Amino acid sequence: MHQVNKQVSEDSWINKVIKPEEFEKHMVDGKDFIDDDQIWETINNAEEPSKERVREILAKSLDIKTLSPDELATLIKVKDPQVWQEMYEMADKVKRKVYDNRIVTFAPLYCSNYCVNNCLYCGFRSENKDEKRLALSMEELKKEVEVLAGQIGHKRVIAVYGEHPSSDGDYIAETIKTIYSVSVKTKKGHGEIRRVNVNAAPLCVDDLRKLHEVGIGTYQVFQETYHHETYRKLHPQNTIKGNYPWRLYVHHRAYEAGIDDVAIGVLFGLYDWKFEVLGLLHHAIELETKFGVGPHTISFPRITPASNSPLFNEADHQKYFVSDEDFKKIVCLIRLAVPYTGLIITARETKEIRDDVLFVGCTQTDASTVIGIGGYSAMDSKKQNIDEQQFMLGDTRTLDELIGDLAKRGVITSFCTSGYRCGRTGDQIMDMLKSGHEKHFCKLNAILTYREWLDDFASEETKKAGEEVIKKEIAQVKAQTPTVFSKKLYDTTMAYYERISNGERDLFI
Ligand code: SAM
Ligand code: SF4
Repeated sequence: MHQVNKQVSEDSWINKVIKPEEFEKHMVDGKDFIDDDQIWETINNAEEPSKERVREILAKSLDIKTLSPDELATLIKVKDPQVWQEMYEMADKVKRKVYDNRIVTFAPLYCSNYCVNNCLYCGFRSENKDEKRLALSMEELKKEVEVLAGQIGHKRVIAVYGEHPSSDGDYIAETIKTIYSVSVKTKKGHGEIRRVNVNAAPLCVDDLRKLHEVGIGTYQVFQETYHHETYRKLHPQNTIKGNYPWRLYVHHRAYEAGIDDVAIGVLFGLYDWKFEVLGLLHHAIELETKFGVGPHTISFPRITPASNSPLFNEADHQKYFVSDEDFKKIVCLIRLAVPYTGLIITARETKEIRDDVLFVGCTQTDASTVIGIGGYSAMDSKKQNIDEQQFMLGDTRTLDELIGDLAKRGVITSFCTSGYRCGRTGDQIMDMLKSGHEKHFCKLNAILTYREWLDDFASEETKKAGEEVIKKEIAQVKAQTPTVFSKKLYDTTMAYYERISNGERDLFI
């Protein structure tokens, strides 16, 4: 394992992490853009809407326009189950308008679980002495990537880190470079990770520049809860994470450092979910207003049991835990409120919930997920041990099983990572998503990358279902040529398809 330098005093490091001048300049009169009282006022002032009013708001979502906080609060007040059903169907329609019939998959790659913070809900918190602490060396990391890219067939990972001097900006940058450096021979070609997203603690601008230089995909930081008082309660004030604005303005710092794909999220179950969805919307509006680019993705993890987490035993807190029914509403509301953004549902959820919620507007999910450090290359990677991971998973389906299940429902899994490599990121991709153009590139690249995956990794059963899907997708593209796709684009795609079938890899439009 990576040598953790005991000489570095954690305390002296902690004191240097936060740079107030990097967030204070964005605040107005010392206040951030989340006004708790105003959010509650918006929720309390909204009334149960008529069907006509709901349909007016849904039309705006379908026009790929971000909703206002008042409009979102109005949708929250819907009671009629039939109207909710209409909203679920519209959420799926909006998703298909922007992203077409595809789901993107990825794997979390936990690199280090040393952490100086003490978040009351997390197994990695410093006071949890039962957690086995590990940080991958670059050699160990390569072994993880060899399994992910060479045996399972992932093309995207989200690398995850605790906050600690041993996993600082330099370590994160080194891990990104290492992950990109691995290429593995596969059945018909070769496999590698082509997009490394990062979920790490909020970094300063200089460190974020380092991540930009080594080709980070999306930089993901969840605010956990937007409610100031709850945030204070769950993140002790003497820790780095206790500083609310340092975290809230990290995406501003990322844009400043040149990273234009950022991701936000809430850990649902910490505070009232209605407040949190409005917090997410305010955050998206703030980024759109200040930088012309909203969040690339939004995540909505629900808290799951973690090793020695005090939060789970607090009876007082359990009123905030989110039921399955409300969870589906949350996903639908976020899709309708921020129609252009990618939505991520993770393996924290059970198979049943994921299969349901994927069809109210989600665009990305993980599979073959292992969240123990070094878990992918370990002998028994399917076994979960609460003291060796951050929390417990609800769905341990393999990528092959998930792709097979999706194929049986007519859905294509995309491994496309081209947008980021041909400059279709940030405001460029936002404009294309809002105008519905991005999905056309994605449709072609989904076909090409699906072909690669089916040939390299699919089991017999999944391949059979997958061939049906790919046939249908190609027929659709052909039918839309030359109206949507030019003849030249169609011909190029089919020529690439042929070359990929013969073993070439990583050809994209
Ligand atoms: N340490 C960094 C941070 O806190 O931002 C990044 C890594 S942290 C391991 C990633 C995310 O896991 C957190 O932002 C939090 O939302 C989520 N998380 C923590 N404890 C969890 C739990 N018990 N159940 C589900 N998700 C959890
Ligand atoms: Fe550390 Fe992140 Fe877990 Fe908090 S959520 S204890 S910062 S790893």
